[in-house]
Amino acid sequence: MKPSLINATIPLDQDGVHHGFLQLPHSRDESAWGLMMIPLTVIQNGEGKTALLTGANHGDEYEGPIALQELALTTRVEDVSGRLIIVPAFNYPAFRAAKRTSPIDGGNLNRAFPGSPDGTITQKIADYFQRHLLPLADVAVDFHSGGKSLEFLPFAAAHILDDKALEQQCFAAMEAFNAPHSVQLREIDNAGMYDTAVEEMGKVLVTTELGGGGTSTARSNAIAKRGLHNVLIHFGLLQGKMERQPSTLLTMPDDGSYHFSTGEGLIEPMVDLGEAVATGDVIARIWPVDRTGVTPAECKAKSDGLVIGRHFPGLIGMGDCIAVVGVPSD
Ligand code: CA
Repeated sequence: MKPSLINATIPLDQDGVHHGFLQLPHSRDESAWGLMMIPLTVIQNGEGKTALLTGANHGDEYEGPIALQELALTTRVEDVSGRLIIVPAFNYPAFRAAKRTSPIDGGNLNRAFPGSPDGTITQKIADYFQRHLLPLADVAVDFHSGGKSLEFLPFAAAHILDDKALEQQCFAAMEAFNAPHSVQLREIDNAGMYDTAVEEMGKVLVTTELGGGGTSTARSNAIAKRGLHNVLIHFGLLQGKMERQPSTLLTMPDDGSYHFSTGEGLIEPMVDLGEAVATGDVIARIWPVDRTGVTPAECKAKSDGLVIGRHFPGLIGMGDCIAVVGVPSD
């Protein structure tokens, strides 16, 4: 395969705190011979594990970039045993545009793996992580939230995997993150995901859904920072004591967790995030937008559980995700 056109402006394997960029050629109208410069910090201190820490895989999700900016700024080399590779804005063009996907090529980075060295910008970023950064890592923490179209109960997540030994390591790291809820996640669409690339390489992945709506809150950012710190302590990368709080473990035993809209309209939530539902309960009603005198469609819970995710905007389209229900695990 061709070499990547992406280069790091700082060493990836030298002790110290190094702030720089991943740079790649990006010829465009405003800058014919220009580069794209993706912020990068590497903090290394001797031998130990490597954590690859990413935010804004989707560009409109903000807790990750905030927690990672703070980590990059405040971590001293003597605090670390091993190496932290910090990329606060993984899909950087999407982050700068406050969009889920890249404004350059429409790329959804979390569906672009393993990428390509001579593909679009999004495919080039994926390829660089696939072939150059992931092989260095023992653990990857990839921060997500709901973005502009979804909102989640703040939770950390790890995937239900066929490789049960790896699954246990991922679940342990998720529990170390210690968000108010922890979810054993079943993906509906894992082809091309960064998560899948990490797991197929046999590395530990912890991810999150910390909020959404295209913003962050003091609470969701505090959860992100505390969880990140806890995971780094769990892997021996940082010293200190984990801050533990009660966390509710949820699972998604089947695809019945996801509820989709069968029409378009004005969405009326009947249950809020974090509330319990029983099978058959109405989670939301969808009113017509173009007439009166018509009964709204009802979205009914397909299983007992807690509402852990919801459609965020006030209007909803055909096929949009209305709600996600997680089932408390014992
Ligand atoms: Ca996301």
